[in-house]
Amino acid sequence: MAERQRPHILIVGGGYVGMYTALRLSKRLRRDEAMVTVIDPLSYMTYQPFLPEAAAGNLEPRHVVVPLRRVLPHAQILNGRVTRIEHGRRVVTFLPNAGRSVEISYDIIVVAPGSVARTLPIPGLAENGIGFKTVGEAIFLRNHVLSKLDIAASTADASVRKRALTFVFVGGGYAGVEAMAELEDMARDACRSYDGVEPSDMRWVLVEASDRILPEVSRDMGVYTVNELLRRNIEVRLGTRLNSAEGHRIVLSDGDEFEADTLVWTAGVKPNPLVAETDFPLDEKGRIKGTVFLRIDGIDDAWTAGDSAAIPDLTHPGQLTGPSAQHAVRQAHRLGDNIVAVLRGGEPTEYRHEYLGSVASLGLHKGVAQLKLAGVSIKLRGWPAWFAHRTYHLSRVPTFNRKVRVAADWTLALFFHREIVSLGALQNPRVEFELATKPALPPTEKAAAAKSAPPRKAAPAKKTTPVKKTVTEKQTPAPRRPE
Ligand SMILES: Cc1cc2nc3c(=O)[nH]c(=O)nc-3n(C[C@H](O)[C@H](O)[C@H](O)COP(=O)(O)OP(=O)(O)OC[C@H]3O[C@@H](n4cnc5c(N)ncnc54)[C@H](O)[C@@H]3O)c2cc1C
Repeated sequence: MAERQRPHILIVGGGYVGMYTALRLSKRLRRDEAMVTVIDPLSYMTYQPFLPEAAAGNLEPRHVVVPLRRVLPHAQILNGRVTRIEHGRRVVTFLPNAGRSVEISYDIIVVAPGSVARTLPIPGLAENGIGFKTVGEAIFLRNHVLSKLDIAASTADASVRKRALTFVFVGGGYAGVEAMAELEDMARDACRSYDGVEPSDMRWVLVEASDRILPEVSRDMGVYTVNELLRRNIEVRLGTRLNSAEGHRIVLSDGDEFEADTLVWTAGVKPNPLVAETDFPLDEKGRIKGTVFLRIDGIDDAWTAGDSAAIPDLTHPGQLTGPSAQHAVRQAHRLGDNIVAVLRGGEPTEYRHEYLGSVASLGLHKGVAQLKLAGVSIKLRGWPAWFAHRTYHLSRVPTFNRKVRVAADWTLALFFHREIVSLGALQNPRVEFELATKPALPPTEKAAAAKSAPPRKAAPAKKTTPVKKTVTEKQTPAPRRPE
């Protein structure tokens, strides 16, 4: 059979929905029944629920991602972005990670580019903030937080130290709370190795615009989590907004102002902007309108699911399924099965999933969970919730290979201390080489530079005092809590 006679199924996005749909199709379809292509700028799928643990150093970052080419050997994987979808012509515009845009035609499309951070036009946010959705951001934050401890331990300047030790997170959903709680736990642990930096020197601030955190669990569990964070000296500012972050100066709507080197924005998500560059129907929040069959509403040969789609929730009539991995994975299975059914002349089946609840880790041996088992709501706090979180996610992380690696990371952590090395150089690996390639000053300029340099003091007769000691002796102790 000629290659073009096989229907071409194009999957936009290789995340939860994209990867699991492609896996389902490759399991259910014979190779002569269809050709599957997955397009994603990344060559791997990220298991996002493990990002906080990767940031905290409990998991090796490589173990929280799944290489698409390894798990989908029979699919074509293209790395780059889809920038436009013209379903009327059955073509997408594909911009590879390098090179010029091309058009790719298809017969059936699955649109699953997920979501992006929902930001606001707050002065200084774009320049000084960072999100928490990718493995790159998780690794960056780990190195960044540890490098701030390095700075605090090495400076004699009280204001530099105070700014380095102030960490602000905006957004109290599970991604933000987990990320903050795990990083604080890691930093607290790391302080044991830093002379002159105590956990009480750090200031961690969680800013949330509404009157509660963790809307995914019941109010009492949200209150429990706030109290747990307060017990760890984390400031929780409910009903508060970030007004400005210019020049690292944080200005909150409650009137508080302070400097912070770290600003993490986790205040919700919005559909990937790609969906606006399509000829598909969108709802009032900009999500692609999907049906209970995971078809794009009123359009043939077009399917959608996940964070970028508005899918009716049959278990809660009138509502939509929320943006969660729990729905994304199950929708992908149903979507794959429905495509197979329709290709073979059958009928698609409705997507129906009763939400099982949420599990969140708040650091080693700490957590909060609310589960629904056989219709009964079970609330867990502390160690049992943390254990439930690990057990659940170990069972869900894709591939046996990743499960073994994750289990191995956790087992090793039982016997060894966490790694507390800040590999900040990874963020800018060419600095040293660029310095090395700078030409040495010619002799005349060298002499001029020496003349203009301030006169050197005579070398002290005694051994030079180490910086660390100077800091603790001369520095005005930084205030511990907000003034
Ligand atoms: C830190 C964190 C923790 C979380 N924890 C949980 C949890 O504990 N439980 C839970 O249920 N949910 C959790 N979630 C939410 C869950 O991860 C998402 O709901 C889920 O990933 C949505 O799946 P998706 O396929 O729609 O999007 P994604 O998995 O984000 O996949 C979208 C893919 O599309 C790609 N893409 C983007 N733009 C383009 C383009 N133009 N062209 C081609 N490809 C593109 C992206 O690179 C990405 O690979 C968490 C999320 C985060 C950020």
